[in-house]
Amino acid sequence: MKRREFVKHLGVAAPYCQWLAYRLLAVQGSLLLTPLLGEAWGAPAAGLVPVTELKHWSTPDYTRISITLDQEVRFEHHKLPNRLYLDLSGTHLNPGVKDLTIGDGLLKSVRIAQFQASTVRVVLDLDSIKEYKVFTFSEPYRIIIDVKGERRQEISASKGEVIETAKPEPPPAEKPKPQQKFRPGRIRRIVVDPGHGGHDPGAVSPSGTREKDIVLQIGLNLAQKIREELGIDAVMTRSTDVFIELQERTAIANKVGADLFVSIHANASLNRGANGIETYYLNLAKTEKAAQLAAKENGTTLEKVSMLQAVLFDLMANYKLNDSAHLADEVQKALHKKAQTGYPAVKNLGVKQGPFYVLVGATMPSILVETAFLSNDRDEQKLKDPQYQDLTADGILAGIKGYISSLK
Ligand SMILES: [Zn+2]
Repeated sequence: MKRREFVKHLGVAAPYCQWLAYRLLAVQGSLLLTPLLGEAWGAPAAGLVPVTELKHWSTPDYTRISITLDQEVRFEHHKLPNRLYLDLSGTHLNPGVKDLTIGDGLLKSVRIAQFQASTVRVVLDLDSIKEYKVFTFSEPYRIIIDVKGERRQEISASKGEVIETAKPEPPPAEKPKPQQKFRPGRIRRIVVDPGHGGHDPGAVSPSGTREKDIVLQIGLNLAQKIREELGIDAVMTRSTDVFIELQERTAIANKVGADLFVSIHANASLNRGANGIETYYLNLAKTEKAAQLAAKENGTTLEKVSMLQAVLFDLMANYKLNDSAHLADEVQKALHKKAQTGYPAVKNLGVKQGPFYVLVGATMPSILVETAFLSNDRDEQKLKDPQYQDLTADGILAGIKGYISSLK
């Protein structure tokens, strides 16, 4: 490909300086410029923010592109008939970050290059899209582009294929038949998401009990009960002690075509007297407390939460808010009732709303359950008790069952 054509191919009009073209070509690997390469790239100018990763997920409803940077940058995005491009100001492309070939019916590919000395350009080559949204996540700072279209039919054949970190567990060899057969109706697959994991312990009690361990146990119990008692497929976002990014958790749920998404957490408060059960669904926080909890679960600051709230309104246009609220209601009610059978004094803190990253982008009814407070001594004792963990799984299960039954 000639240089001029190539520059056009990469984006819109570009300055045709020889030096820049060499750099573009070097990035694309279209020319062997090894001796020039070292000079052309050199060291990035001081103060430029490195672009460290470019990833994508294809789901039945949309494709998500994630660009990771070392810190927040200014960027702009523009849509042309066949492509969408973003210019990231004050940035430097790490050499390891490569173009992506996608070909999923929405996007052909994503190309990334050092477009100008201090600007990295990302170009999405579009196949057929209906709409797109650009927003950011923090810590690490990521620019997310969700591209939507209508291709559920075409993709459904590959529904079983899951992102490496979250292989659906094989169904149990022998499915015990529930005594009274439960009819799952149109709910065929539920994603169970134990919060945190790996280097992220979540909340830690004064005596060292970690949220990630408790919620994994509850999540494993719940998934097993969903399979055995409801006869519905359950997919865990994690079934071991590994870290999964928040954005990836909903992407997994979308990718496996889940009908419900349940994220399991344990609460913490500076007020050590605070205790009880509460269930959230995604919405703007109605109270300062909800915003604070979202900041904690998002691993971010209160200030970032208010920034997320600003874009959330727009993002939520297609979300199943009413269904999520309904699911939250059923689960909160049933979980509290079940917990009372073991601990009569357990508090019902009700259904609440908050801007949780882990729920952003889910295309199915999705909730976040705060099972109890690790910061409260009595609640902590309960959470550590395997019987209470089982009771909690039973309670969430009963809520899911109630939700499904109410759909009929
Ligand atoms: Zn948590």
